[in-house]
Parts: sequence; C-alpha cells; structure tokens
Amino acid sequence: MWHRVIGQQRVKNILLSALRTNRLPHAYLFAGNEGVGKDAMALELARVLHCEKKNEEACGECASCLKLNTLQHPDVKFITALPLGKSEKSDDPPMEKLAAADVESVQEQYRLKGENPYHRIAIARANIIKINSIRDVRRESAMSSLYGGKKVFIISNADEMGDEASNTLLKTLEEPPGDTLLILTTSRPETLLQTIISRCQLVRFDPLTEGDIRAALIEREQVEDSKATLVARLANGSYVRALELLKDDVDGLRQDVVNFVRTTLTGNAVAISEQVEQLASSKDREFVVRFLTLMLIWFRDAFVLLQGGSIINLDQQEDLKRFTAKFPDANLNDVMNAVEQSISLIYKNGYIPLTLLQLTVRLRRAILEHSLQRI
Ligand SMILES: [Zn+2]
Repeated sequence: MWHRVIGQQRVKNILLSALRTNRLPHAYLFAGNEGVGKDAMALELARVLHCEKKNEEACGECASCLKLNTLQHPDVKFITALPLGKSEKSDDPPMEKLAAADVESVQEQYRLKGENPYHRIAIARANIIKINSIRDVRRESAMSSLYGGKKVFIISNADEMGDEASNTLLKTLEEPPGDTLLILTTSRPETLLQTIISRCQLVRFDPLTEGDIRAALIEREQVEDSKATLVARLANGSYVRALELLKDDVDGLRQDVVNFVRTTLTGNAVAISEQVEQLASSKDREFVVRFLTLMLIWFRDAFVLLQGGSIINLDQQEDLKRFTAKFPDANLNDVMNAVEQSISLIYKNGYIPLTLLQLTVRLRRAILEHSLQRI
C-alpha cells in the first residue's frame, strides 16, 4: 500500500481509515525525526486525494498524478523556506523578487522533490518560510479548486515559519476555509506555537527500521546487499540520512576505522593523540558518531565471526580473522560497551577529544590486558 512511502504502516493505517470514513481533519501535524518520510507521506496523501482513478492507491499515470510527480499540481501547494529577494517586502509574492538563479534553483529543487519525495530540499539562503507564502495559503484556500476535490497545502518543516507567518497560519487554522487540507511537517514540534499544535491533528512518525531502509536502498538505489546493510545501520532510522551516506565515502571511512584501532594498539602515545586530534578536528559530532558506529559494527563483526555467525563487513573478513587470531583473549564485550558509551557521550555533548582519548585507553585495556597477563 502506498509503496512510494517506506515503512510507516501504522501511520498509513491511520490516514487510510480517515479517508475511508471521510473524516480527514482540516489540518494534520506530521511530527517525527528528520528523514522518516513525513513529506513523502503528505505528498502521497495528496496524490491519493487527487488521483483521477479515485482509488485508495494513486495510479501514478493519470494527469493529476503526473502533475504531482513534478510538484506542479494547481490544487496541491508544497510550501518551504525560500531565500529573500533584493529589497523584498513582506507583501511581495514569495518568488517575485528573487534573482533568476534563485528561481532556477527553487524550481530544480521542487523537481527533485517531486521525483523523489525523500529528497532533502537544499536552497541557498533559504532559512525562513515567508509570511507571504502563508498568506497565499489563506488567499488560495478561499478559492475553489481547479479540478474539484480538496485543496492541499503542505508546509514542509513548518518550524521554519517566523512569528508573523505563524500568526497568519493560526488565523487560517482558526477559521478553516471550505474543502482544504493543511499538512504541517516538522522534526521539531516543540518549537511550534502551542495554539497551532492544538488546532492540528497530531500524527507521530516512527523512525524507520533498518530492514525497511535496507530494502529501500536495494530496490530504489540498486545498492548491493552488504553496503545496504551497513548504510541502513548507520542511518539511524532516517532514509534521507541513508541517501546522504551513499554519497559519503563509507569504504574510506571503514579503512580509517581499522587504522584507528591499529594505531591505538601500538601504544605509541604521540601517534594516538595525533589521530584523536585529527578525528576531533572535524568538530562534526555526527561525523564522529558515524565513525564510531562503523567501529562498533567492526568489533561486533569480530565477535560474530568467533561465534560462526554472518558478518556485515564481508570484504574485511580477512582483517577480522587476523585480529581475532592475534588477540584471542580480547574482551569484545568490554570493547563494544566502550564504543557504545563513547557514542552516547558524544551525542550528549561530551568533549570530543577527551571522549576519544578515553576510548583508546579502554580499547587497549579490553583488547590487550589479558594477553599481556599471559606473558
Ligand atoms: Zn492517478
């Protein structure tokens, strides 16, 4: 059902049941982590509502579905943050004062979003949803739809509305015009006005499962099995994140992880502190977490290999075997705990260089201590 949307069966059921009983609210608030498919679900609901076949499933072929594939349906407006034009005033139409290059960039981003509803829209200097984009909602919702049926307004990342825009939206929510459906999406619902939240029907989205992400990567992006497994694990429930990871050099990063462990085990204090500094110098918490997650997967593989299970880093099997042969007494449970705790510390704003340095000490202890005792 609604196969363009990955997973989220619980949410699909909620929406389908509202559709079947004709109980769609005037406004939904789709809340959940970034990249779990809130925009995708909003667009799919719009497709189903407007598909000329009038089924519970959008056909993908009729004129309405085709228009939505390029986000150019006159009765479905997708609203997002836009850059400000030169000397633009708040009552100028949202696109009017933009430079030609900005207009082109916006159109290109909309095209990509229509093609792939998991595309993360990236428009330079687009930090705020303009008040006039929201005034348009008010104005256009008062007019009847061109093709019959509901007018749908999707306000993507609604937390990017400023105060004025929020208050304008509130007026629309207070006196909902005729046959319209507003869908606000956000990963930060706590930053919205309480009065806006209370006038929307809240639908919470779950993080995607690794299995869902893995299957989607294989099917949609033709990613090979083992890489899909790795990326799905790193993506932390977000398909948007998974798509971005595909562009990252995950293989290079995996090699860096092996080198990090190798240097740590040499015990060369200068080399260890150099590599800690280098990794910490990115100051990018998410990057460091990704690095440590790969490390965790690598050690888990070493553990699984000893039990005769199936590993994720298939192509590193020889490295892993060499490691377990060299350090048969390593306490891999301690190792994995140490890496997990470092990840959680870095999430919680721990000081990155210190956390990493402590990790190297714990790794050495857990891997070498018993081996040294035997000597
Ligand atoms: Zn259709």
